[in-house]
Amino acid sequence: MPASIPESLQQKIEERLRYYEDLGIQLFYRDRVAAGHSSPALPQSTSRITAEESSLSKPKSKIALPASAAPVPQQVEPVVVAPPSGPSLFDAMDKVIDDSLPKIREDLGDCTRCKLHKGRHKLVFGDGSATAQLVFVGEGPGADEDAQGLPFVGRAGKLLTQMIEAMGLQRKDVYICNVVKCRPPQNRAPEPDEVETCSPYLLRQIDAINPKVIVCLGAVAAKTLLQTTRGISHFRGEWQQWRGYKLMATYHPAYLLRNPPAKADVWKDLQKVMAELGLQLPKKKSS
Ligand code: SF4
Repeated sequence: MPASIPESLQQKIEERLRYYEDLGIQLFYRDRVAAGHSSPALPQSTSRITAEESSLSKPKSKIALPASAAPVPQQVEPVVVAPPSGPSLFDAMDKVIDDSLPKIREDLGDCTRCKLHKGRHKLVFGDGSATAQLVFVGEGPGADEDAQGLPFVGRAGKLLTQMIEAMGLQRKDVYICNVVKCRPPQNRAPEPDEVETCSPYLLRQIDAINPKVIVCLGAVAAKTLLQTTRGISHFRGEWQQWRGYKLMATYHPAYLLRNPPAKADVWKDLQKVMAELGLQLPKKKSS
């Protein structure tokens, strides 16, 4: 039997769960419990995901940015969301030399490695530039993506496209992919075993592209890569260091469709990304 918890703490947990549900998140990971501490209110661990940080530093490849791009003298020092606490999901994932997106796609094949394959129509691998400086990582395909085999092509995808264009880029300049490559039933959040099975391919995709910046769209992507249980609202908009990459977590476009005022927060985050990439706001056309 789990130990009882104070009513005030239970209330806080319930409020937090409601908040996550508002974000469309119904699945939660649990932090590795520090020695001598326990979390009686939470179920036993359903994931092996733990905090991870690597000092690995990789040289960044450069690609041509739009002509409007110009250096912006702004540097933000990265901060780390969660301290390393033991072996992680990605510990065994050293960078594969000479890996490439076609090779990773070929390795995935007609994947049946997790149960999500049962309901999919099309596997959604990813889309965009293989040499992108900027990679967006979402959660998983929805109905439109499942039908077309492309990421972010539904309503949320159209909003993401607008966001990318507002940054002075086009979709072909960036790379867009998801944590899981097959649509979870009823658009539920991917389960830990599905994330664990599929995310090594995401890792390979990121390493093959070797971007300057990764933007996690929503809590599932941020939690998967950063391996933290902290709510995204606590570290959204802050630079993180992840395996030698600069990473920014922000809200998922689907959340913005339900909560338009949050667009202002996301735009602030994307402006930081623009500064890091040396992008300037596109000039308005004079009338
Ligand atoms: S979600 Fe990933 S691991 Fe699962 S079947 Fe699809 S491609 Fe394979």
